[in-house]
Amino acid sequence: MWCPCGSGLNYSACCQLLHLGQEIAQSAEQLMRSRYSAYVLQEIDYIVKTTAPSQQKLLDQQAIATWSKQTKWDGLDVIADHSKLGKNHAQVEFKAYYLAPTVADSAIRDAHHERSAFVKIAEHWYFIDPTVALPTMKQPCLCGSQKKFKLCCYPCLTD
Ligand SMILES: [Zn+2]
Ligand SMILES: [Zn+2]
Repeated sequence: MWCPCGSGLNYSACCQLLHLGQEIAQSAEQLMRSRYSAYVLQEIDYIVKTTAPSQQKLLDQQAIATWSKQTKWDGLDVIADHSKLGKNHAQVEFKAYYLAPTVADSAIRDAHHERSAFVKIAEHWYFIDPTVALPTMKQPCLCGSQKKFKLCCYPCLTD
């Protein structure tokens, strides 16, 4: 099976190694790709485990599972890695394609076009979920750095 992330490699030589915990993502982009593949294959544990540790308990796993299953995923394009925020922060811009049903009983190809934020903690990259409760500007950052949120991960959550 070709890897859903579009690398052109077999799944067993690509994202599966990360899904099984045999390798860790070497970059935010690689983590992003493996998370896309996890949505396609409904590897919900992997989606949870690669979200910032302090956010994991806030995720609605049932909703993630339902959404990933109902979406007809149709490919991934990584557009740019906007990593200008230091080596432990990254922002990856991508389009995740899916087929949206139409009234005419056919489907059109549409895309989620997003910039996702990532933080590296103890050599592991994590996705920062902007949809769960975030700290206030002056509170300690969600990544556990002891810095204020405003001066740490907040800039990678903004354009
Ligand atoms: Zn892959
Ligand atoms: Zn932070």
